[in-house]
Amino acid sequence: MTDTPTCDTPSDSSLPLAQATALIAAAISPTGATCALPVSDALNRVLARDVTAPIAVPPHRNSAMDGFAFKHDKHRTPGPSTATVVGQSLAGHPYSGSLDAGQAVQIMTGAVVPDELDTVVVQEVVERHGDTITFDTTGIDAGAFVRNVGDDIALGDTVLRAGTRLGAAHLGVMASLGIGEAVTHRQPRIAVMSTGDELRAAGETLQPGQIYDSNRITLRALITQHHAAASDIGQVADSPDAIRDALDRASDEADVILSSGGVSVGVADHMRAVLESEGTLQFWKIAVKPGRPLVFGRWKGAWYFGLPGNPVSAMVTFDQIVQPALASLEGETPRDTVQLTAVCESSLNKLPGRMEFQRGRLGNRPDGSLCVLSTGNQDSHVLTSLSHADCLIALPIESTGARPGDTVTVVPLDPAWGLASASPR
Ligand code: AMP
Ligand code: MG
Repeated sequence: MTDTPTCDTPSDSSLPLAQATALIAAAISPTGATCALPVSDALNRVLARDVTAPIAVPPHRNSAMDGFAFKHDKHRTPGPSTATVVGQSLAGHPYSGSLDAGQAVQIMTGAVVPDELDTVVVQEVVERHGDTITFDTTGIDAGAFVRNVGDDIALGDTVLRAGTRLGAAHLGVMASLGIGEAVTHRQPRIAVMSTGDELRAAGETLQPGQIYDSNRITLRALITQHHAAASDIGQVADSPDAIRDALDRASDEADVILSSGGVSVGVADHMRAVLESEGTLQFWKIAVKPGRPLVFGRWKGAWYFGLPGNPVSAMVTFDQIVQPALASLEGETPRDTVQLTAVCESSLNKLPGRMEFQRGRLGNRPDGSLCVLSTGNQDSHVLTSLSHADCLIALPIESTGARPGDTVTVVPLDPAWGLASASPR
């Protein structure tokens, strides 16, 4: 053992994942700024106000089927029945005439059920001769196939809570209420940079020792999924001056700065020192694999996350640490992470001491239960095994791995990660 600290020193001060996320959640609060948007532009935005219903949905009593509306008579013994059809009620064109006993209207799905009638018989079980219909009332309850006013939403109901990230169904609910505008939180402005003298961009020729930068592409893609496109600060050299300059440029335009690389303990890793001396450092190590070195702090009014350089570490720590932080900053109510239990079909190696996320692919066994296979090499520079994954297998800190047949916890990955790429299982 040397005196030099390393990211893998066993008894170091790495924070357990839950502690790190709690610390970030306590530090970060929404900006409070809101903006009103047309509902059609509000996908993925976070609601800043509760939405209450200005009308009932459905707003009128209507038919759930194509058929005939009639008045149910509870005193009559169920059996063959006849009625006279006196008109039609079509969606958007209610029947407007009067109705006497024994009269019915032909009615289509969504059309208003006249006040005098209360039940719909589906057209498939009706015999019609001219204006006379015959059908069997056996098994037809009063109110059958009639949707009542407010079945879905009552007038004044709170249908959506502030803090909801709006998906397609939420937008649909607002549209169904005739609401055209959503009051949402302002999206955080996020700036992304890559650090490392070895990095080159596509189109450039690699010199000895150089590699192509993949983190900016993956991180910006993950950000775009939920947030406004991130601004691209580009590649930053491994020098304190270049880092300082890039952080300044980023903090001028962003609420959150995200960098990858340069946060470990190598001689070219300057991020932590720069932040410690001129910004605020909250923590720099988490007990998570992949991704132990991770800096969280502030730089001149912006939140700062320094992610590890290895491509898988950068994506996994983004998912586990940064994504929830961005959600809180945008005012989103925290959601429980969906965890599944699956039978492991691979041998997973692990040493105790750090929580570990291994890349896996879900499947179903012949009995329908869930199983998971490792996607192969779990080293943190092996991005292809992440591109073949559709889940992360979460192994707790004390775990020593898993053997085929063991039960493990898995966290499904969002499709935007590239799941279900054509890899052989
Ligand atoms: P670092 O965290 O800077 O020590 O980098 C750890 C490893 O990740 C090294 O092998 C780097 O070359 C690699 N790396 C750093 N940044 C990137 C990047 N943006 N894209 C791909 N690999 C990277
Ligand atoms: Mg580096």
